[in-house]
Order: sequence, then C-alpha cells, then structure tokens
Amino acid sequence: MLTIENLAFSYGATGFRLSIPELVVADRDRLAIVGPSGSGKTTLLNLVAGILSPESGRIRIGDKDVVEMSDAERRQFRATRIGFVFQDFALLDYLSARQNILYPYRITPALKMDAEVRDRVQTLADACGIGNKLDRHPDALSQGEQQRVAICRALVTKPKLILSDEATGNLDPESKTRILDLLFEQSEQAGAAVLAVTHDHELLPRFPRVLDFAQYRESVPA
Ligand code: ADP
Ligand code: MG
Repeated sequence: MLTIENLAFSYGATGFRLSIPELVVADRDRLAIVGPSGSGKTTLLNLVAGILSPESGRIRIGDKDVVEMSDAERRQFRATRIGFVFQDFALLDYLSARQNILYPYRITPALKMDAEVRDRVQTLADACGIGNKLDRHPDALSQGEQQRVAICRALVTKPKLILSDEATGNLDPESKTRILDLLFEQSEQAGAAVLAVTHDHELLPRFPRVLDFAQYRESVPA
C-alpha cells in the first residue's frame, strides 16, 4: 500500500531534518507511530499525503508515486484515496459539522455526492456520538466533538490509506476506544491501511506494529 525509500526532508537549510531509509506498510496493515514531540511524526504524515514535498526519495501509494504527481493529480489523489485526521482538526469555521464532513465532495469533482453518501455521514456521526450535532458549527462544539467531525471527514470517502494524527488525543478513555474501534471497523470494510500517530500507550496493544520515531531524528547542527 505504502512504500517509502530513502526519504529526506528538511524545513530549510538549518531547520529540522527527517530521514527515513525505508518504511513499508502493507494493504490492511495497522501501524502505530510513537515518538517524542518534535520528532517529525506530523511531518511524515504531511509528506505521505503530498502536502509537503521531500528533497529526495520515493513515496509510493499503491502503484502511484506521490512525489512525481502534478499538483492537481496530487490534490485529487489525496481527496479520493487518503483520509487524513489532522492533529489540529483543520475544520472550517464557516461550515457546519455536516458540511465539513462533506468537504472532500465540495472540492473534488471526481467524488459524487448522493443519498448514500449523505446516509453515510449520519451513520459515521452516530457511531462517533455526534449524530445530533451535525448542524452546529465548529465553534459550538467541544474539542472532542470537533475531533470526531475531523474523523468522520477522513472516513467518509472510504479511503485506502488512513493517516491519523493524534486522533484520540482530546477524548476520554471510553471515547478513545470507541473511536479506534470505528477507525479499524471502517478501514477493514474499505480494505484500508492505517497509520496512526498516538501518545495513547494503552492503545498500542491493538496495533500489530509500532514504529518508534525517535530513531529517525537526525541531530540538527548547532
Ligand atoms: P511531531 O509531530 O513529531 O511533534 P513535527 O513533525 O510537527 O513533530 O515537527 C518536527 C520538527 O519540525 C519540530 O522541530 C518542529 O518545530 C519543526 N517544524 C514543524 N513544522 C515546521 C515548519 N512549517 N517550519 C519549520 N519547522 C517546522
Ligand atoms: Mg505532531
């Protein structure tokens, strides 16, 4: 599903530098990513999603190389094949929760919205416990509720690769378990692989593989 080879990235000449020789995630695989704050976990997810471009190396998803795509191709690929739960949620304040969840359909002509998609929004929202709050705007939702809107938006397109950045970070223990159940259930139905950055060590036993990110950190010259 995902193959990374000889990946190198930096935020400018003196900025943080990330280097990953190899990372392979199989179809339907579930990989947890742990590591200290600032070790580049979010940076990696942004590279995989094609939001950032590496200096060198390859990032293949299925049979496509994300690095070689044109910007337009990459945008469409991201919207149709990748579900991304951002660490800061990245919800749009001027849209309702429902409109936020349906956002990929607004911006991607290749995604067709129909009654099934609308039903799916309700089903996902019910499963997350925000089914009765879909007409609210983000500023009328708690942090945990906003996070669940972001999760529904990542799942609505039935992506083949789910990138989750601390998706359970703002939730109580019972909700954390429920959200992870939902992520796994949806990924199984869609045959998707999951890459989940998490600080919730009690959730790690549910992942067949855990990658500790500390090893990829290269010291920045002082
Ligand atoms: P993590 O998600 O593991 O906490 P990040 O990937 O967010 O880490 O950040 C890795 C490092 O890159 C940090 O030192 C951070 O300060 C730096 N960084 C993140 N985003 C930028 C940016 N846009 N410009 C410059 N440096 C950045
Ligand atoms: Mg981060």
